[in-house]
Amino acid sequence: MSSSTDQVAPNSYLPVPNPTTPYWRTDLHPLDSHHSTEDLPSQADVVIIGAGISGVSVAYHLSQGEGSPPSILLLEARQVCSGATGRNGGHAKVKTTSILELLEKDQTEEVEILTAFVGAHIDAYKDVVEREGLDCEFELRRSYDVYANEKDAAALRKAWGEYAGQPWTRSRQLIDADFAENVSKVMGSTTDGFPHGGEVPGRKGQWIIAGFNGGGMTMSFLLGKGVAQMVRHDLPFEEIDPIVPRFFKTTEARLAM
Ligand SMILES: Cc1cc2nc3c(=O)[nH]c(=O)nc-3n(C[C@H](O)[C@H](O)[C@H](O)COP(=O)(O)OP(=O)(O)OC[C@H]3O[C@@H](n4cnc5c(N)ncnc54)[C@H](O)[C@@H]3O)c2cc1C
Repeated sequence: MSSSTDQVAPNSYLPVPNPTTPYWRTDLHPLDSHHSTEDLPSQADVVIIGAGISGVSVAYHLSQGEGSPPSILLLEARQVCSGATGRNGGHAKVKTTSILELLEKDQTEEVEILTAFVGAHIDAYKDVVEREGLDCEFELRRSYDVYANEKDAAALRKAWGEYAGQPWTRSRQLIDADFAENVSKVMGSTTDGFPHGGEVPGRKGQWIIAGFNGGGMTMSFLLGKGVAQMVRHDLPFEEIDPIVPRFFKTTEARLAM
């Protein structure tokens, strides 16, 4: 493994030049390093920086719907999905830790909004995989959150008892078992634990979709759809698809946290 000192990018706005090769990038797709034009176009209606799930979702949703789509320039510093998107576990679910964090702050309404939003992702992925005929090993199945230390497991058991019967508990079961989990800790994080989406405060015509705290597969696709609605139809965050949690909106206050 390389040390953090040889992973310094020459430009801090660019991803590191020498990433490890993830499993998902061992058998490369023809679009991996695709350039649709020899030289970069001098102009485009919409410029998207980053061809991970967030950027690709915005581009996809901009190209859908009625009327002719805007011209889109999708820029990628390395290869398509070579960042977090090409190196994740691919699990689409609400992490129980995220639910517990919200419950600790008494945000029970946000728990329901978040679980509905993530649930909508599972349907949206199934739909897009079938509609576009994507060869991506999609599987609809059960998943497990495994607690590797007794303190966290005890906190979960306590919350489970306290919140029994709430809607989010109905699609879940608590199982006592001896499993262990390893997490890589490579992820974009935000201070309040939620992603940022929407127009960047004070930067007219610039939008952000980022900061998924290790759960981007469950939040970026439909947040991308929402950002595409803002860009294409000049909508404020408040008027995009109501499934998108309003507390994902990027604001000066959230950026200053
Ligand atoms: C090890 C690991 C496991 C994970 N497991 C899960 C999981 O099981 N379930 C889940 O929901 N989430 C998981 N995640 C999180 C999830 O992968 C991310 O939240 C999600 O992929 C973020 O997508 P993104 O498009 O925002 O970012 P990225 O996929 O990182 O895409 C950003 C892209 O932008 C490019 N870029 C950056 N800067 C520039 C620039 N200046 N110019 C041009 N291009 C640029 C990068 O090269 C990159 O391709 C995991 C993450 C990791 C690292």
